[in-house]
Parts: sequence; structure tokens; C-alpha cells
Amino acid sequence: DTKVKRLDTAVDKLRIKRKDSNTLKVTENVFDDATLKSLYTLSNKGIVEALGGSISTGKEANVFLGEGEEHDIAIKIYRISSSTFRSMEDYILGDPRFTNIRHNKRDIIFAWTKKEFRNLIRANEAGIRVPVPIITERNILIMEFMGKNEKPFPALKDIKLELEDGQLIFETIIDDMHKLYTKANLVHGDLSEYNILIDTNDLTPIMIDMGQSVTLEHPRADIFLKRDIENILRYFKRFKIDETPESVYKRIKNT
Ligand code: ADP
Ligand code: MN
Repeated sequence: DTKVKRLDTAVDKLRIKRKDSNTLKVTENVFDDATLKSLYTLSNKGIVEALGGSISTGKEANVFLGEGEEHDIAIKIYRISSSTFRSMEDYILGDPRFTNIRHNKRDIIFAWTKKEFRNLIRANEAGIRVPVPIITERNILIMEFMGKNEKPFPALKDIKLELEDGQLIFETIIDDMHKLYTKANLVHGDLSEYNILIDTNDLTPIMIDMGQSVTLEHPRADIFLKRDIENILRYFKRFKIDETPESVYKRIKNT
């Protein structure tokens, strides 16, 4: 039928590697008509030259490797059919940057995608290592690919570190949380060993996944900050860190 034909055309146009049956299987349930249209737009603009393999299938989004104009890119596609949009609403409604959003699923997800884009810009401008965002198109966020030879950098949870390296990485993360708070005026909101990648060239931590990050005006900003701190301290316990939630909280707020 026409839907299958359209998918075929999109697949050809974006040069999805057809022999990679895994990719195709994932793409078939991510790529509803609206998403296909957005991919066409990005392809026509020359931003996405080819769609590569699947990097991740999460609760709300899929991430793909892609070929950009000059560099590899990461393509994060929020699923319109995502069932968690109700909780997205809580994070959007407390944000003064998004006051005119209609309360339907699609618009909430488009706003969410833009929110992640803007949060990454602010974090990048504050001097934190994050994927540099390139553009959004409806439910698709295009950003710098953080990896080497088409392989994404490992998450903090998946890398084995020497004591000293772990301690250095901890210090950088607290510095980054401080910059995020004082310069970008944001709280990450889902910070843990899952949302920090480690650049294997120089062991720099890279913060990712900022869709849920909130500005300091958000009524729950402080609760989210405390939760982020707890997560980080829990993970770094094994590196014999001499800090408490209170001491880290003070460092981040600079008080
Ligand atoms: P989710 O909401 O599904 O957790 P994330 O933004 O955390 O989405 O991305 C999921 C996974 O995709 C990450 O753990 C990482 O492996 C990969 N990923 C995300 N963004 C990038 C990127 N810019 N470069 C390389 N890999 C990425
Ligand atoms: Mn994540």
C-alpha cells in the first residue's frame, strides 16, 4: 500500500542500510508519517545526508547515527506515540519559556524537543561539554555525534575507571553542575551514570539527555537538583569521594 511505498522511498532517500534488518525493524515503528515528513525536510535542507544504524531505543525516543553535511550526527527522534507525555506536561508547564503550548500530545512532544535543543544550547554556552545541538524539526533533534569511528562513547555506567580517574571525573561533573546552575540557570533533572558519556580520548564527561532539564524558576527545581546530587554521590561512592549531599549542594550553588 501507499504507506509501505512511502517508507521505501524514505528509506532509499536516506540510504538506510537495508541489510541491517535491526535498523529497519526499529525504523518501521518509529517512523510514522509525521516523522517521515520531518526527515524529508531535514534531508532536503542537507542536514541529514544519510541515516545510519540505531544507537538507542529508549522509553520516549530513539537515537540514530547519521551523516551530516560535514560530520557524523546523532538523530534523536521522540516518538509521537510516547505514552509518557503526561509527565512531560509537568516539566513544560512550569517553564516560563513555554507558556503558549496547546495541551495535545503532538504539541507537547514538539515543545519537549525544542526544550532539549534550547537546554543544550544554554549548557554549551555555559562551557559544559554537551552534544552541540544543530537543529530541531518537530519531534526530531539533530546534534553533534559524541563518539569515535561511528561508535558512541560509553556511558559512565559502562566504563571501568581507576580510582584517580573516577575522582577527576567526579570533580568535573560537580563543576559542570555548578556551571549549569549558575551560568545556564538550569537543573539537569535526570543526571546519573546513564546520562553521562565518557570521551575515551581524554576521559571528559559529557552530559546528555536534557529534555527534562528545568530553569531555576520551576517549582521543583530544587527537588530535582537534590535528586541529581544523590544520584551522582551514590554512583561515585566507590571512588571514595569525601563529600556529603549538603557540601555538594553548597558547591553547586556557590554558597
Ligand atoms: P533517552 O531519553 O532515551 O535516555 P538519551 O538522550 O539519553 O535518550 O540517549 C540515549 C542513548 O543514545 C545514550 O545513552 C547514548 O548512548 C546515545 N546518544 C544520545 N545522544 C548522543 C549523541 N549526541 N552522540 C552519541 N550518542 C548519543
Ligand atoms: Mn537517557
